Amino acid sequence: MEYNCFLHSKCAVVEVICGPMFSGKTEKLIRRMMVAKIACKKILLFKPVIDNRCVADKIISHSKQSMFAKTVKSSKDIENICKKNMYDIDVIGIDEVQFFDFNIINIIKKLSSMNINIVASGLDQDYLGNSFGPMGELLAIADKVSKQYAVCISCGSTATKTQRLVCKNYKEKKKRNTNNIFIGSKKNYEPRCKLCYNNKYD
Ligand code: ADP
Ligand code: MG
Ligand code: ZN
Repeated sequence: MEYNCFLHSKCAVVEVICGPMFSGKTEKLIRRMMVAKIACKKILLFKPVIDNRCVADKIISHSKQSMFAKTVKSSKDIENICKKNMYDIDVIGIDEVQFFDFNIINIIKKLSSMNINIVASGLDQDYLGNSFGPMGELLAIADKVSKQYAVCISCGSTATKTQRLVCKNYKEKKKRNTNNIFIGSKKNYEPRCKLCYNNKYD
């Protein structure tokens, strides 16, 4: 078992799990939450509604591990749910945190000051190689950062980038031109090392 800082620290810890797609972020988040449960901590797990790859109220890793997660529309929902259960939460998990609005930073700070541990997992970079949504700021306020890596699909070395692949039909093309959030999986994205990655479509 990895060292789980929230089991030991006197004050609440903000941990951010980041990396490209397929790097095991969701797996690690599920593991953290399972360990917390074994230690009889009260947990709450959230995911943004934008992540339509998964069935509602569940996070599923690419290796098919799953766990109950409340689907929320915005960071405000997380705040409201937590306020109602404030004395009944030890650890909050958030998956796909890059899809939340920037207000997630203030909410995480607030929850942390209420002695609630946070484990947030998300893509650090978008397909252009820029900080994805609030991730840059989130990494700045993190007490612990776990950077994850994947296997580069082109050459087999260590991948830190997420390559967006060419979309074959017009509808998809239109979507990708207007929005840097384009939900997909193996078909649309793949992990690449810096040498094999290019920030145009491949
Ligand atoms: P993430 O949440 O970072 O997208 P997941 O936790 O859902 O990742 O899935 C990680 C799992 O994906 C790995 O344990 C492995 O079984 C699988 N996998 C598939 N392709 C790759 C790859 N190219 N590199 C690493 N793991 C991969
Ligand atoms: Mg994931
Ligand atoms: Zn490569």
